[in-house]
Order: sequence, then structure tokens, then C-alpha cells
Amino acid sequence: MIITILQILFVLAWIVLISYLAIRMKGQKEIVPLPDNYWEWLHDYVKFYRQLDESSQKRFEKRVEDFLSATRITGVNAEVEDLDRLLIAAAAIIPVFNIQDWQYINLKEVLLYPGAFNTDFDQQGYDRPVAGMVGTGALQFAMILTKWQLRQGFLSEQDTRNTAIHEFVHLIDKMDGTMDGVPEIILERKYVNTWRNLMDTTIARMKREGSDIDMYGATSPVEFFAVISEYFFERPDRLKANHPDLFAILQRIYKTGDTG
Ligand SMILES: [Zn+2]
Repeated sequence: MIITILQILFVLAWIVLISYLAIRMKGQKEIVPLPDNYWEWLHDYVKFYRQLDESSQKRFEKRVEDFLSATRITGVNAEVEDLDRLLIAAAAIIPVFNIQDWQYINLKEVLLYPGAFNTDFDQQGYDRPVAGMVGTGALQFAMILTKWQLRQGFLSEQDTRNTAIHEFVHLIDKMDGTMDGVPEIILERKYVNTWRNLMDTTIARMKREGSDIDMYGATSPVEFFAVISEYFFERPDRLKANHPDLFAILQRIYKTGDTG
């Protein structure tokens, strides 16, 4: 009789221990699963994803999942919905999709504001007032986006704007230590001067004649690189037709197409 009770207790204790370990291991893995309707949302909102073939779409989904597992997304007076998380991750992955083993080591957290955010922060690093910013100083490893601009960037497929992509391009530019419009980390050395000259001449022409490129890009090479990258990913067809030289070098930077 005694033995039977001990046996039952032993079995119970074993079950408790196994359950505990299972829960613990699950917690440690920290893989953030994609939301249930991610496929539908990526199709509906992310043109870049829609145009990929099936195996590339799978690769894109995996990169999105990895990004979300590595990056905290925090709402500041804004509710972070699954769709917001998915769009932020899509904007992060689009520019680096063809770059092997890319990780945003200079980003830990994305802060999501509802609309216009107030200027309690250092003014430096702001984009087109209230659209977004990459952190400096205390916000070194953070990026600020606004929910409204984030969604707008993906909803309007006919324009050349996407604020979230713009901010991630700044992070790519910043990765080599300097934010100067030249992403040395992904642009082969032999093309650096060509790129610099092309930026300078285009900015000068924009100032002289105006342009179909967002004029915010003429404020500095840093902004030019971010603005022209938005154009490249939002309307590649139009950029290729209107600015073939810029299109060609952006293909080299982002390793798209087969320019060799
Ligand atoms: Zn900017």
C-alpha cells in the first residue's frame, strides 16, 4: 500500500517537473510567431512581398519573424496592433532583403507614436517634422515612427513615399559609423565616388529645376539617400524611367536585379 502511494506521488512529481521544464524552454526560445492573418496582410499591404516568387516570399516571412523576435516594439500613447508590427518588420526587411546575413545591430526598439509626436527630444534626427526619426543620444538604439505615417506608407502604392523604409535606410547608412548618405557597409568601394557625385549633381539639379523626387531629399546627402531609396522601393518602374542612372546604382547598393 505504502509503495503504491509513493509511486503515485513520484509520477505526479515527474509530470510537474516535465511541464515546468517545457514551459521554461518555450519561454527561453523567444520566437515571436507571426500573427494568424500575416499572409493576407502581407499580400494586401506590401507590394514588394506580393511581387516575390513563392520561395522568396517564404524567405521574406522568415526574415520578418526574425526581426520581430529581435526587436522590441513599444507603443507610446498608441496601441501596437499586429498589423503595425508586421508593417514595421516589412519596412525593415525590404531594403536588406537581398543582403546576406543582415542584422540591424544598431536597433533594439521601435517606439510607435499615434500621430505627430512632440519635440521633447533632441531636434537632431527628425524627419519631415513628425514623420519619424532614428535615435541619437539617449535614444541611440531606438527608432521612432508614427502609426499614421507607417500605415500611410503602405496604403498609398502610387506615390514614392514610405516613411518607415526611409528610417530604416538611415539605420543602414549609420551602420558604418557615419550617417553621410554613403552606405559603405553595402556599397562596393569602387562605386562610392560615382554615388557621391551622382547625389551631388542630382541635389544641385533639384534645387535649380525642381524634381519629381521629393524635395526633402535636396536638404542633404543623408536625406537624399533615404528619399531616393523610398522612391526605389515604392516605384522602381517610375524611377527607372525617369532616373535610369540613379536606378542602376541603387540596384548595386541593394543587390537587386542583375547589374553584376
Ligand atoms: Zn530622414
